[in-house]
Amino acid sequence: MTKILDAYSRKIDYLRISVTDRCNLRCVYCMPPEGIPLVGSSDILRYEELLRVARIAASHGVTKIRITGGEPLVRKGIAEFLKELSSIPGVDDLSVTTNGVLLKDYARRLKDAGLKRVNVSLDSLKRDRFMKMTRGDNLGDVLDGLKEAEAVGLVPVKVNMVVIKGFNDDEITDFAKISIERPYHIRFIEYMPFNSSEGWQRDKCLSAREIKDIIEKALGELVPVTDRKWGAGPARRFRLQGARGEIGLISPVSEHFCGECNRLRLTADGKLRTCLFSDNEIDIRKALRDGSGDDAIEALLFRAVDEKPMKHYINENIFKKCSRTMSLIGG
Ligand code: SAM
Repeated sequence: MTKILDAYSRKIDYLRISVTDRCNLRCVYCMPPEGIPLVGSSDILRYEELLRVARIAASHGVTKIRITGGEPLVRKGIAEFLKELSSIPGVDDLSVTTNGVLLKDYARRLKDAGLKRVNVSLDSLKRDRFMKMTRGDNLGDVLDGLKEAEAVGLVPVKVNMVVIKGFNDDEITDFAKISIERPYHIRFIEYMPFNSSEGWQRDKCLSAREIKDIIEKALGELVPVTDRKWGAGPARRFRLQGARGEIGLISPVSEHFCGECNRLRLTADGKLRTCLFSDNEIDIRKALRDGSGDDAIEALLFRAVDEKPMKHYINENIFKKCSRTMSLIGG
């Protein structure tokens, strides 16, 4: 097995696969109310195509796979697909990012399919605000989904909150408090610049440092957690005194972690993306469908790794907002 190193000696062992561009919510910072033009279903990679890419990537040292979307749980057959993925030799960390709306029904099936953990996106604990942010009345479903995930052992349950100034930053403390009572990892994510109806502005992005200050002022010191368990990725991890769970801070905007970037992304329509914030994409779908052998797929994976930029340029004048929304890239 060859491990893959990029041009900056970063080991690439993580593949994020978007399985669909469809979503059952319309978060204001991600999509316009009418949704976005969907990719034709024949252009979406079939499960067997995704499995082929995953197998080849795993044979070159990819050990972590995260499934995302769109909303991955709206794609038919997702549990069976996950079962196949989890049985690929070398894949030892399989997880899913979901908005949690369907999680209550799926948690058991996901666990049985070999899934280890789930990350649930949740930006407000207030019903009205949840509706305003997601354009859906599903807060109760998401909370039920979290409970069910914990009950079936998809742990630690990670909750991801995107903090937007003037929108939900007054709930930071309420979210942080959850980690005291429940063994959840509550992760605060800086608001990132993508195309959306909401329109990203730098002054709506609260930095991880500001978020940390708010939590510490209200709830006391955040003590760093230093073990390497749970595939924390780019989160800086902390614990409140006596808490059962953890707090994570993810700062893609204010303090990038590109030096440790270990990932490639595969969009639902079969493009390898070298960086979340770069529109550089390499088409793998054609090779998957024109009878090319595994060596051709492998070469495209290597090319994507080779073309990974040293860092993103969000904080520099040359930065242009990504043309795709997160729902298309797979967050
Ligand atoms: N539907 C799934 C979900 O909600 O988790 C997976 C896809 S969603 C695009 C993945 C993540 O991207 C969510 O946590 C969402 O909050 C996040 N996201 C989307 N747009 C974002 C932005 N502009 N800044 C920060 N996070 C964003």
